Amino acid sequence: MFGNAIQRVISRFKSPQKVVNICFIVVFLFSTVLTWREAMVLEGAYVANQRNSLDSVATLLDRQLQHNIDNLLFYRNAMQYALQSPISTDRTRKSLADFDLLRTQPFWQLRLDMNRSLPMSGVSDEFVNSSPLLDRDEKTLHSELSSALELSYIMRLSDRSRPLQQRMFYASRSGFFLTSTPPANDPKIIALYYRLIAQPYFSSQSPQNNPSRTLKWTHTFAPVFASGQILTATVPLDYNGRWYGVLALDYPIESLHSFLQQAKYDDHEGTVLLYDNEFNPIATSAENLPKHPLFTEPQLAQIAGVVTAAKQGDQGELRMDSRFITWAKLNNFDGLLVKVHTLQEGVQGEFGRISIVLSVLWVLFTLMLFVSWIVIRNLVNNMYSLQQTLSWRANYDTLTRLYNRGAFFDIARALSKQCQQQKVPFSVIQMDLDLFKSINDRFGHSSGDKVLAHAAAMLSDAFRHGDVAGRVGGEEFCIVLPGTTLEEAVKVAERIRVRINSRELLLKQGNTVRISASFGVSSAFEFNDYDFERLQTYADHRLYKAKQNGRNQVCSAD
Ligand code: GH3
Ligand code: MG
Ligand code: MG
Repeated sequence: MFGNAIQRVISRFKSPQKVVNICFIVVFLFSTVLTWREAMVLEGAYVANQRNSLDSVATLLDRQLQHNIDNLLFYRNAMQYALQSPISTDRTRKSLADFDLLRTQPFWQLRLDMNRSLPMSGVSDEFVNSSPLLDRDEKTLHSELSSALELSYIMRLSDRSRPLQQRMFYASRSGFFLTSTPPANDPKIIALYYRLIAQPYFSSQSPQNNPSRTLKWTHTFAPVFASGQILTATVPLDYNGRWYGVLALDYPIESLHSFLQQAKYDDHEGTVLLYDNEFNPIATSAENLPKHPLFTEPQLAQIAGVVTAAKQGDQGELRMDSRFITWAKLNNFDGLLVKVHTLQEGVQGEFGRISIVLSVLWVLFTLMLFVSWIVIRNLVNNMYSLQQTLSWRANYDTLTRLYNRGAFFDIARALSKQCQQQKVPFSVIQMDLDLFKSINDRFGHSSGDKVLAHAAAMLSDAFRHGDVAGRVGGEEFCIVLPGTTLEEAVKVAERIRVRINSRELLLKQGNTVRISASFGVSSAFEFNDYDFERLQTYADHRLYKAKQNGRNQVCSAD
């Protein structure tokens, strides 16, 4: 039943080739859509993977920075507590007395406790007075110094083995500083202090420049480091409305470099870069920072356009040329972590390999589909033409190309019935070649065949559209003429007779022969009978009569 339904659908299409083409197109589209869908799923997984891998670096970096920032804020709180209620011990009193003796020296150093605290280094009153940013306020000076001495104990405890953080320091506006990497007691102290207060991170923490008193990141030039750059996190120290100085943490770029390099776990993972808030590259997971900018000005503008609107901790991705860019804003750093994944790295990576396998599978499948399409199409074409030939042979005579006896009788019966219903004339011409046997005998059977084909062609040329002819015996032909009276049919028969007899036919070895045929004609009106078989028998009688009367003539009466 199901098969029949399919047969019906298929038979609606005129040609089976069309059905084959449509089937293959459907399979091709289906496989392509499936592959496309797989590719989309793969792309989604790739994007998620890129995001996750950058996110893990960002989280790790944020965690480290958070720890260091927490330290910085802890030190500020400690200083503020100490300023609120300074400890006064014999040691601090002695140190303050030492300070009062040393304060006019160009440089000085106070060492409270060699083993447990960090030395405090400073410059002269004169130096302080020479800079408008500096101020040795006599009212708060001693409490600040003793608070800083207290801080020097705590700072000594800071764990410098932790990654990223290199140096922690307190630079006071009162002309002294405390650093986790203390200098020797020599004139270099002056240059060091000068460098600290000359840096933008110091001036940027003045109440005018940072009214919100928040933590700030600065990316500055620092020739002491191999990269020549340093990243500094600073918080201002304020108490009772006075700005005392700046607490700061240094991150040499090298430590950020090595942090990013360690965070990278696969060579095909792409390059992670840390950019500052002005889109200058700071550090990279690659060997070195790129020699040429990775992005053109318009590309940077495009990234900036997306990133500026984003909040801290946000993530996103962009496609640029053949590169896939993932970015993440850090929670604890005023900059951007960017991951650049090139097409080449993508191809070499896991997702690239899966994509290649998927594409190869699709290409192979399509190729196989194409080859089987060609094979099946040829097969169907051959079967179709075979079917056409078979059905033609079932109805036609191959020698004369006229209807064969069976098909002709079916058509003739149908036509006679139709004429009977329409009450129109119907005539039959029976034709037999004269003395055909002698042609076979004289020139051979193949020459006889040639004569038969020639006679059939003459016949086909002579009758009108609507008349139907068939080969009903060896050299016997029959023509039915719907809508034609006996007189008209006789004219047609006469025309055919003249045509057949008019020309000499060239046979093999230069022999020519002029053939003739005899005709018997009958019609439905004269017998008031539309039965084709009977009409043919009447015509056959008349044909016999024509033969008897000397052949090459038409006979239409008994
Ligand atoms: P007539 O009809 O004028 O009385 O003489 P005839 O020689 O045509 O007589 P007959 O009908 O007895 O002969 C028919 C011959 O046609 C016999 C047969 O050998 C030949 N014939 C029948 N079919 C074919 C055919 O397909 N090819 C060839 N070459 N000859 C055929
Ligand atoms: Mg004959
Ligand atoms: Mg005969």
